[in-house]
Amino acid sequence: MASAKDQFGETSGKPIRCRAAVARKPGEPLVIEEVIVAPPKSGEVRIKIICTSLCFSDVTFWKLKDPPAFYPRILGHESVGVVETVGEGVDGFAEGDVVIPVFVSECAECADCKSNKSNLCSTYPFKVSPWMHDGSSRFTDLNGETIYHFLSVSSFTEYTVVHVANITRVDRTVPPDRVCLLSCGVSTGVGAAWRSANVEAGSTVAIFGLGSIGLAVAEGSRLCGARRIIGIDVNPDKFEIAKSFGVTDFVDSSNVGDKSVSQIINEMTGGGADYCFECVGKAFLVEEAFACCRKGWGKTIVVGVDKPGARISFSSSEVLHLGKTIQGSLFGGLKPKSDIPILIKRYIDKELELDKFVTHESSDEEQGGEKKKKKKGLKKEKSSGEKEEGTGATEKYDDIPVPEPDRKKGLLDKIKEKLPSGKTTDEVAVPPQKPEIVDCGATVVGKEKKGLLNKIKQIIPGYNARSADENGKEACN
Ligand SMILES: [Zn+2]
Ligand SMILES: [Zn+2]
Repeated sequence: MASAKDQFGETSGKPIRCRAAVARKPGEPLVIEEVIVAPPKSGEVRIKIICTSLCFSDVTFWKLKDPPAFYPRILGHESVGVVETVGEGVDGFAEGDVVIPVFVSECAECADCKSNKSNLCSTYPFKVSPWMHDGSSRFTDLNGETIYHFLSVSSFTEYTVVHVANITRVDRTVPPDRVCLLSCGVSTGVGAAWRSANVEAGSTVAIFGLGSIGLAVAEGSRLCGARRIIGIDVNPDKFEIAKSFGVTDFVDSSNVGDKSVSQIINEMTGGGADYCFECVGKAFLVEEAFACCRKGWGKTIVVGVDKPGARISFSSSEVLHLGKTIQGSLFGGLKPKSDIPILIKRYIDKELELDKFVTHESSDEEQGGEKKKKKKGLKKEKSSGEKEEGTGATEKYDDIPVPEPDRKKGLLDKIKEKLPSGKTTDEVAVPPQKPEIVDCGATVVGKEKKGLLNKIKQIIPGYNARSADENGKEACN
């Protein structure tokens, strides 16, 4: 079997011309276009994306008009890929390694990385920045315009560049469509229960919002031995699926009559839950979750992402007299390089049930068919729009390698080809069917006969975001 060097030899170390789904204007459909991805600089790797998911934070930023929103931008931050080029000074990673990019860094050397009390690296601090850590971009469009990065990952593209502090190598025998879920959503939820809250056996947990993050909190709480897990959501349809994640009790927050959710939870639990998780991204729900916590030891964990600038308010006496704790949980408090391998082991040991998070899968055949259509569409775009061929805009890129053969293949073929292990495909454990996009509602979107980027483009404009409701009634999505 060909080595990684052989397989990526054509492109390694050179700029790559490939396709990406680019957010050009707030709230407008993503544009699938060709982009140039520069080779990695010092301390970085270039990755070929195998699977990517749609997380609610992508939707939040796709809608934003002002900074920290920047356009044009390549969104996407939950993914798995294969290292295609290794930049200078990178130790411990090689071409062909399967890696998960994560928006939280781990340099392993700063005070925070060395402490077991924090996952917030100081060398490469978390920022919603439009740049790589060095303040520059690796993406340009065919007119030479800079395209911005997102959360140090930018995965809605065939190739991306990521700093080594933001990648974790994973065992290539684990199915990429499952391990992809550990790049953000499932890790965040499971970690919030496991690392941030440190839920004890026998505890009572309340979870606001039963989307995939909320369900992952339930999964983490179940693994920690929680006795009672109360799910709160405006959509009672989610309750049935939540049962399989260990949720034992439900509160339909759209139908509580004269009572507040906190009154109901306090009554149900005889004084409040031990741990409350806000997984929606609404400041007022953090206040409600805090009110649901037991005095003395109750802990509220903030997991959801609200709009930039959103404020939480508590009365001073509420905090002083009740002795409760409120804690932020970015990436579930997990250190990516240290903790993701533990989660993968628990998945292999059949403790962490990642498969439950996938509800739809699309077949390889469908994707293969789509590749042809997509290619056609791309051509049309090039010959009729601003990027018309012959205008000179693209000619200077003609000598940049285009990894063309991949476009004729489905995702499965790509995975089989790009896991250069010397192993048979059976040993690589590629499942018979593959999802490409995982919706943040714990759903893999795959019924449509669409390829990776087209699916992202389709999902985002049609996204039914309940959280947009002004009065917050629908916030628990
Ligand atoms: Zn995310
Ligand atoms: Zn660090």
